[in-house]
Formats: sequence, structure tokens, C-alpha cells
Amino acid sequence: MDYLLTEEQQMIRDLCRQIAEEKIKPVAAEYDERGEFPWDIVKIFAEADICGVYIPEEYGGMGGGVLEMAIAAEELSWGCGGISLAFAATGLGTYPILLYGNDAQKSKYLPDIAAGKKLAAFAITEAEAGSDAGGIKTTAQKNGDHYILNGTKQWITNGGEAEIYTVIAMTDRSKGPRGASAFIVDKNTPGVSFGKKENKLGIRASATREVIFTDCKIPKENLLGREGLGFIVAMKTFDHSRPGVAAQALGIAQRALDEAVKYSHERRQFNSAISSFQGIQFMLADMAMQVEASRALIYSAARMIDSGAKNVAKVSAMCKTFASDAAMKVTTDAVQIFGGYVYMKEYPVEKLMRDAKITQIYEGTNQIQRGVIASALIKEGLAKK
Ligand SMILES: Cc1cc2nc3c(=O)[nH]c(=O)nc-3n(C[C@H](O)[C@H](O)[C@H](O)COP(=O)(O)OP(=O)(O)OC[C@H]3O[C@@H](n4cnc5c(N)ncnc54)[C@H](O)[C@@H]3O)c2cc1C
Repeated sequence: MDYLLTEEQQMIRDLCRQIAEEKIKPVAAEYDERGEFPWDIVKIFAEADICGVYIPEEYGGMGGGVLEMAIAAEELSWGCGGISLAFAATGLGTYPILLYGNDAQKSKYLPDIAAGKKLAAFAITEAEAGSDAGGIKTTAQKNGDHYILNGTKQWITNGGEAEIYTVIAMTDRSKGPRGASAFIVDKNTPGVSFGKKENKLGIRASATREVIFTDCKIPKENLLGREGLGFIVAMKTFDHSRPGVAAQALGIAQRALDEAVKYSHERRQFNSAISSFQGIQFMLADMAMQVEASRALIYSAARMIDSGAKNVAKVSAMCKTFASDAAMKVTTDAVQIFGGYVYMKEYPVEKLMRDAKITQIYEGTNQIQRGVIASALIKEGLAKK
């Protein structure tokens, strides 16, 4: 399908596909096996100048938005869902600054992110507060010109590797969700430490760690927006970043489809290529429809968000949920088409299935997304009455 991309968007797509094909694909299995963070590939992202596709030009970026972020995430994830996450999770950590940072904060942090000199991360989840983010216990207590952060964030993507963390903490517990605030925390701030790197099912090249704050002194200039805005910062960030998760899922699904089509020509049984069997053809057709429908929904949602439309939580949740469910189905079907060979790790397809799973879980599970979609529908329905 023709998505009427601009020349610049096509350039981003082609460049990211080239990096995925030439630089990521050949090393993806090794990074996955070793569970190693892909610093060599991050350098390639920086040299290719793709780290700031969604950052305004005045801060050193390319001036794009959610669509450019999604196009890049899709293509890089085609190469490897784990490696591409160094880029995509930096987007998640950067959106709070883009959306709520003042000029001084943007000028201080965005140029290094855009140049690929620094990675970012976003930290809201805690051991007792996953889907129920309102249950976070990390506190930020005001003390003169500073806030003192205490608490532990769990499963933070890019944790320990990123230099810049956007963190949601409670400044006033008595106000419940209205008592949360968002902060920018530099990695080298005394009192910041990290847990061990998690050993994961998929996206194994990505680093996932606890981020621990122990009497960590944060200058008040690092507060994003104002006190009490923490959950709004988080929710608006997710509205902008979920199409990126959807695009990761899409890239993984597209790769699974490409591998399955290729293999179905090559593999012969009953004296024929398995692609001649209708049972296989129908699976491939269903996979292709899921992939294309995901892309159409993601690009439309991204365009709507970039246009400045107001109520985008529903479309953002829709594209994340649809594309990640599709990726899980498409990668599982690709495994089926490969038969027993894929069970042996020499083919990349089992990794695609492992990598796809996380897209149904992080940045809000798909159950939580369905809740977001349903409550928007109900609100819209009531408004029409
Ligand atoms: C690899 C990885 C990377 C991550 N990266 C980050 C990161 O960078 N930053 C960050 O802050 N967090 C991150 N997370 C955390 C992630 O966002 C959470 O895991 C996710 O929000 C779900 O929380 P939970 O795992 O505690 O599941 P739970 O909230 O305990 O949910 C368990 C199950 O119950 C379901 N459930 C819960 N509540 C409801 C409900 N109301 N209705 C219906 N079903 C419900 C869920 O859908 C799920 O199926 C990461 C997690 C992983 C695994």
C-alpha cells in the first residue's frame, strides 16, 4: 500500500531498513544469545543521524514526530526487536521532556539525545505497581532548592545504559494520583544505582534493570511541568510512545512474514514447495493482512497525534493493541510454517516470537489498553446523548 510518505519519511525508512539489513540482521542472533547491550549498533545509529528523527530541529533533531519515530522503529525492529529498543526506549524517556520540558530543560537534554551521545529511559513501574501505576511508592520530598528521591523502579528498559531518566515519583501522597510529579534524573547523580541486568525471554539485547534512588538529590530545575502533573506526564507520554511499541511489533511481524514466504518457496514436501499447499497459502495471506492492517492503523494514529488532535489515547491504545496481538499471531504462524526446523535455533523465527511477546505487555498490557479504548468509547457515547 502507498502511505504517501514524504521524501524525508521515505529517506528515514530506507536508511533504517539499510541499517537493519546490513548492520543489525547479521549480528542479531549473537546479541540475543549473549544478552549483550548493542553499543556498537547505537554508534551506527548516531553516525547515521537517526536518533533525533522525532526531535525538533532547534534541538538538533530532524523535526519529525510520532510517524517518523514509528517508521524508524518499524524498520530497525525488522532487524532485531531487542537492538532497536535502545532507540525506541530512548524515545519513551524523551517524550516527557518534549511534551512538558521548558526551554532550559530541552536545550540541556535534547541535543545530546538527538546526536546519539546519550540514551534516555522512562521509569514508572515498581515491584508493587505495574498496571496499577497509581500505587507507586517512590517519593520525591522537597527540601529547599532540591527534591530528595527515594525508591526503586523495576524493569526499566535502557536501565544502567542510559544517561537520562525521566522518573515518576510521589511529591504528596495525601493527594493520591494528583500527588505524583515527573523529574529528569541524570545517571551520575549521587544516590542513583542499578540492579542486575534481567535475563529475559525475548528482546535480550535490550538492558532491563532496577533503578534505585537512595537519598538522591535532584535540583528543583529538573521538575517537569509542575508538581502534581506526574501521571498526566506519564499518560500523555504513553499516548505518543505507544505507536512506537506498535511499530516495533509491526517490524517484527513483517520480518516473520518475509521469512515465512521465503522458506515456503524453499522447503519441499510431497515433491512440491510447501507454498503450493493451500493450508500454507491461507496462513500467509492472513499474516499479510494482519501486517498491513497494523501498518495502516499505526500510520493513521501517528498522523492524528502529530496533527495535534486532542483525544488520542484511544487510537494510540488501539494501534499498540492491534499490532502487538497481530505480531504474536503472525510470529507464531511463521513458526508453524517453518515446522520442526525453527525449533532449532539456527533460524531467526523462534526469536521473533520471543521478541513479539513483550509488545503485548509493556507500556501498559493489552488488557489495560482495552480498558483505555472501552472507557473512551463509553465517554464518547455519553457525550453524544
Ligand atoms: C522487558 C520489560 C521492559 C519494561 N520496560 C519498562 C520501562 O522502560 N519503564 C517502566 O516504567 N516499566 C517498564 N516495564 C514494566 C511494564 O510496563 C509492566 O510490566 C506492565 O505495565 C505490566 O505490569 P506488571 O508486569 O506488574 O503486571 P500486572 O499489573 O501485575 O498484571 C498482571 C496481569 O493482570 C492483568 N491486569 C492487571 N490489572 C488489570 C485490570 N484492571 N484489568 C484486566 N487485567 C488486568 C494484566 O494485563 C496482566 O495480564 C517493562 C517490563 C518488562 C517485562
